[in-house]
Amino acid sequence: MSGVTKDSVWGAGTIAVRGGEAGPWPGGATQVPIVNSVAFGYDDVDRWHEVALGMRAGHIYSLNTNPTVAAFEEKLRRLEGGEAAASFGSGMAAISNTLWALLKPGDRVVSITDSYGGTSRLFLEFLPKYGIRADLAATGDPGALEKAVGQGCRLVYVETPTNPTLKVVDLRRAARAARAAGAILVVDNTFATPIIQQPLALGADLVVHSASKFLGGHADVLGGVVAGRRDLVDTVFKYREINGAALSADAAYLLIRGMKTLALRVRQQSRSALVIARLLERHPAVSRVFYPGLMSHPGHDVATAQMRGGFGGVLSFSLKGGFDAVRQFLPALQLAHLAANLGSVETVAGPPRTTSHVELSAEDREALGIPEALVRYSVGIEETADLVSDLQQALGTITSG
Ligand SMILES: *Cc1c(COP(=O)(O)O)cnc(C)c1O
Repeated sequence: MSGVTKDSVWGAGTIAVRGGEAGPWPGGATQVPIVNSVAFGYDDVDRWHEVALGMRAGHIYSLNTNPTVAAFEEKLRRLEGGEAAASFGSGMAAISNTLWALLKPGDRVVSITDSYGGTSRLFLEFLPKYGIRADLAATGDPGALEKAVGQGCRLVYVETPTNPTLKVVDLRRAARAARAAGAILVVDNTFATPIIQQPLALGADLVVHSASKFLGGHADVLGGVVAGRRDLVDTVFKYREINGAALSADAAYLLIRGMKTLALRVRQQSRSALVIARLLERHPAVSRVFYPGLMSHPGHDVATAQMRGGFGGVLSFSLKGGFDAVRQFLPALQLAHLAANLGSVETVAGPPRTTSHVELSAEDREALGIPEALVRYSVGIEETADLVSDLQQALGTITSG
């Protein structure tokens, strides 16, 4: 049996603070330094050759590996419980490099209708140009996903909860179906974070993240990462070296710094989100609330079984007065940035009609179950009571007709 490492007994909050920061760093620095060097020099030509061949630890060129970037990758790897991790300059770079590295012409992918917008475009527009077919099963219908996967595929790609209506995909069932079909299961864990959901432990082969959201947590850095089975991560990493979509040391430093508070933030954001979702559910100006923590959510039982300690910091809700009500409500919020991002320490709100799903027609949005008067609300770490008062006053400004 392999030895249990010291880190494997740590809880997520401890790994978030200490994981991947072993050093040693110059001058005994206790914090991971930003190593802004394109290349790493060697006096000994034989040693240089051994490092270049991967026979000896070390760095050659920052497009391939870099000490600051490696510390970020190691922290995330430990949080997700993966064998290996590779980082990228953005979440879309992580997703597209993973798909391009693992697929080949003639392959079939099965995914869900509610994937992140950029990911859907890869499935429907770019992969088909190279003879890679993607079929999208109805999100939140495990039977539909199992049927599509059972017809044979190379890769299954899901995310849960989804954007913007927080649908829940049963990860254990998706993993079982993928395994039976001999397919790789990739899960986008951006919305949940490893603090409350660990797809690899539920049977996924790879987990991907937009680190620009909760991992960084401060809306000031773009990044992406993939973690999981070593053989698959190695394949993706080798493709990234050629594709060139590396994360910079500056970005990795901001991600490391942000991730130290990941557990605190996500737990607080999840607590506030549940309070807010319950309040909105009873509010007369609100027609529907989408949040997996609510008993009324169709995916509540599955979410309870695969998430722990909360249901995440993002919720959405539709207003009774249609888009006119959204026009009045959003600018009346005093504690929310009106913007397209999510997962920050500050609360962020916006209409999917304008942000994530702006390129779809009203009919397409309706087919995905996205009401025109939907508001996505990413809960920050402000006091719950202040957010509740702010929402109540802003809902109070809506005049009907
Ligand atoms: C934002 C996001 C992405 C894309 O990440 P970028 O860092 O913006 O490239 C992918 N998946 C999900 C679920 C996201 O929210």
